[in-house]
Parts: sequence; C-alpha cells; structure tokens
Amino acid sequence: MALAGFVCSTRHRDSRRSHKAPMSPARHYASTHPIPDRAMTQNDTLFGKILRREIPATIVYEDDEVLGFKDIAPQAPVHVLFIPKHVLIPTMDDLLPEQAALVGKLVLAAAEYARREGFAQEGYRVVINCREHAGQTVFHLHLHLLAGAPLGHFGVPGR
Ligand code: AMP
Repeated sequence: MALAGFVCSTRHRDSRRSHKAPMSPARHYASTHPIPDRAMTQNDTLFGKILRREIPATIVYEDDEVLGFKDIAPQAPVHVLFIPKHVLIPTMDDLLPEQAALVGKLVLAAAEYARREGFAQEGYRVVINCREHAGQTVFHLHLHLLAGAPLGHFGVPGR
C-alpha cells in the first residue's frame, strides 16, 4: 500500500465567491492527481509527517485513501483522527465539489472503525473543526471520532 504524496488543494475566497469560469484545467488536474512525496514541502503539516511515519503516532486504521490514528490529547475515552492520505486540504472550507467522495470516505472509515472496535451500537460523535471559531489547530483536513462514554451536548460551553 504505497503512500503517494499529496496534492495541496486550496481555493481562494475571491475566485470561489465570484462567478468566473470554473477551475482551470491545471488546477483540476492537480486536485485529482497525486504528486510524489518529495514534492510536498511548502504545504506540509504535522499530519503529513505522521502519514509518512516521520513522527510517531498510534495508527489504528488504514485503507487506500484514509489513515486513522489516536489523538495525542484525547477528549473522550476513544478519540481517533481520520485524514486523507493523498490530498492535503487545509480546511473544510477548501473542499472542492469533486472531493465530496473523499469526505464520504473519511466518514465511512470512522463508521467502519466504530463497528470493528465494537462501540457503534453505543454511539459516537464525529467532528470537523474549521478555522478559528471551531479551534482548528492543524490545517490538514481531519475528522475527529469521539466515543467510549456519553458525550453530552456540544457547542458553546455553558449552554
Ligand atoms: P483540530 O483542533 O481540529 O485542528 O485538531 C487537531 C488535533 O490534533 C487535536 O485534537 C490535537 O490533540 C491533535 N494532535 C496534535 N498533535 C498530534 C500528534 N502528534 N498526534 C496525534 N494527534 C495530535
């Protein structure tokens, strides 16, 4: 199972909100074709290093497109992060329509892990933090899976 490199996929507010022509052929190609590992430098992240096994992590799930590893500062008895292996998308706001299937794969990976680990029936929560107000700290799209105890309500603390 080779670890191909990332394509860094960002989109800019101005181009997204205007009604200009759709993505250029070059950007479309870049958003759908992985590039070699060595090409990923400028847009690397902590999670990219975990993906390439350059820093340690407790990896608990892997398939062709998704890697899952335990969060280093768990917020619940089970706290696993799921990331795309081949595309570096900084935030949920940078997702492109053609990347919808990738989001589905993150969700399905979390669901499969929950079934495999035996807590799907008790239930769990998935979270994607996007930027400042959600407290996003690692700008490499990831899905949190939280489980293992009643999780209570969520949102603004105290409400
Ligand atoms: P977010 O705040 O949504 O960007 O989530 C980033 C998550 O990454 C946090 O829950 C951190 O605890 C977690 N994290 C940071 N560094 C590591 C690491 N080296 N290994 C595993 N999880 C990490």
